[in-house]
Amino acid sequence: MINVCLINLGCAKNLVDSEAILALFDKDPRFKITIDENEADVLILNTCAFIFDAENESFETIEELSKLNKKLVVLGCLVEKYKNELKKKFPKVNLFVGFKDFYRLPELLGNLLNENINKPYTVFNRIEDNGASIYLKISEGCNHNCGYCIIPKLRGTYYSYNEEDIYNYALNVVNKGIKEITLIAQDTTYYGKDFKDGTSLSSLLKKLDSIEGIEFLRVLYLYPNEVDYTLISTIKNSKHILPYFDLPIQHASTKILKAMNRNDSYDSLLNLVLLIRKEIPEAILRCTLITGYPFEEDSDIEILKEFLLKARFHHVGCFTYSNENLAKAYSFPQIDEKIKEKRRDEIMNFQKKISYELNKELIGKVFKGIIIGQENNNTYLVRTLFNAPDDIDGGVYMKTNINHKLGDIIKIKITDAFVYDLYGKEV
Ligand code: SF4
Repeated sequence: MINVCLINLGCAKNLVDSEAILALFDKDPRFKITIDENEADVLILNTCAFIFDAENESFETIEELSKLNKKLVVLGCLVEKYKNELKKKFPKVNLFVGFKDFYRLPELLGNLLNENINKPYTVFNRIEDNGASIYLKISEGCNHNCGYCIIPKLRGTYYSYNEEDIYNYALNVVNKGIKEITLIAQDTTYYGKDFKDGTSLSSLLKKLDSIEGIEFLRVLYLYPNEVDYTLISTIKNSKHILPYFDLPIQHASTKILKAMNRNDSYDSLLNLVLLIRKEIPEAILRCTLITGYPFEEDSDIEILKEFLLKARFHHVGCFTYSNENLAKAYSFPQIDEKIKEKRRDEIMNFQKKISYELNKELIGKVFKGIIIGQENNNTYLVRTLFNAPDDIDGGVYMKTNINHKLGDIIKIKITDAFVYDLYGKEV
């Protein structure tokens, strides 16, 4: 029996990959998964190299794990980014594995340990945080070329997973008790276009929506320019798809959007938000933003603020631009870190009032929710339409005298609202 311990770094998409890898080992009786690094025969590290800080964390973790004197396998974005350089830098690592070979890991480990292991693979797997929720990755890679992003260089061009396979996987996990599925990809809106046979995110969502027993279906990472009337209608007319729109718009100044090589403009973004609001007034809107991208001036921040005032997102995540050496913008004139941070703080502070006002409008409303955590005896953490997984949107807290277990479906009436969190009681 070979004891395998996997350490994951990075985003939800990395976690899904790690879960898929663990599923390979889980299905193979020759391997045993352990969470104890000291008990392991082989340590597998899934790295992130999306920005400088993530890259550093990956380097440091390799150093740490090298000291344990176990067989060490390193996977993921860092391997794709640095390929051969890593071999020189970390001679104690036994194996570096690129994305395309993830699913050969049992076989590769067999070679490493001189055992004859050669197994076929499954594509999907899941992350559970409460026994009732999973992420489901529907594609790999990306066909966009955003100036700040190195993902297409690391993960390659877009390819969608087979629609039928995704459906069957979702059906299987729902039959086993999963109630909430969150679809993720680098760009979920591009789903199916590479098949050129009419398959689309809408067609996939309609199929998934038909699964009996699914309670919440949510889609993250919608590329704004590809969110069209058809997709909005699919969400509007569905039984289980949450009207939650995660729009990583990155900026609203047309000048900066152009410099970022995004396909949107101030007007197109505003029109999209207005269309969503018109079609689905109860929709919850989230966006992510970047401050300090090359060429940004104070006037662009004013434009962004004006946009936020008109668009009125419930949730805004704002990050400073991180200059990555493989990104197109690497050679552009750079903005001082302190200015980037000051602009980020300015935007986050500006948004607070808007979020607070919108959250207050939710007082008195009743949401369906899933119990995802327990704060104390009678206070539970709940996921509703309002908040996506992984705490990106703040929490919804519910007081009740009823005893619940994780994964229970409840109804909560909102009684109190703050900038990031909502409070309510069970009804
Ligand atoms: S859409 Fe842009 S930011 Fe997102 S993964 Fe593709 S290139 Fe990167």
